[in-house]
Amino acid sequence: MKNLTYCRIVLLGPPGSGKGTQAQMLSEFTGLKHIASGNLFRDHLRRGTELGTKASKFMEKGLLVPDRITIKMVTEAVLDSSCSSGFMLDGFPRNLAQAESLDDLLQGRNSAADLSLLLVVPEAHLIRRMLNRGRPDDTIDTIKTRLKIFRQETEPLIDYYRDRIQFEEIDGLGDIEEVQLRMRGVLTSSL
Ligand code: AMP
Repeated sequence: MKNLTYCRIVLLGPPGSGKGTQAQMLSEFTGLKHIASGNLFRDHLRRGTELGTKASKFMEKGLLVPDRITIKMVTEAVLDSSCSSGFMLDGFPRNLAQAESLDDLLQGRNSAADLSLLLVVPEAHLIRRMLNRGRPDDTIDTIKTRLKIFRQETEPLIDYYRDRIQFEEIDGLGDIEEVQLRMRGVLTSSL
């Protein structure tokens, strides 16, 4: 990997693991751009765009938004000039097709992801955290669907990245600052 201010990180972790909060804090620490696919969708929804309307039908059921829509949206974000010194992806990729599309995108620019960080949180904690979060898509049914999809579609990415790039697991239990310190420690020692 290059250095703290120039690297491409893929953050993995189940829904409710605190990825978004941690990535935001890590982005402030490193200066790396935080790209959160869920936030991009929610932003489209707030602005009332066609993409937002399409995506919301899947989001409210806890389903993945189709790859075609998701990949195009994230590709645009990655290609934005604000990401020229690297980025931290949060919530993307969520399946193999998305991971391969990210590889192709980066390869086309003679680069690759440098590091994948997995935030580990047991399932019982995830459900409690999501119910406390109170987002519109945080009902018990959507939470169960999201966890099932994570196990079926996103979990295989753990081996995908473990086999290809530097991969680190981080214990996601504890308070926010404690987890953040662990992440910074791992990131700093990975350089
Ligand atoms: P998140 O904020 O990461 O929990 O994402 C909220 C919702 O946005 C998810 O439940 C999906 O419906 C959708 N979403 C976010 N990222 C992706 C992705 N990479 N692929 C498909 N759907 C996604």
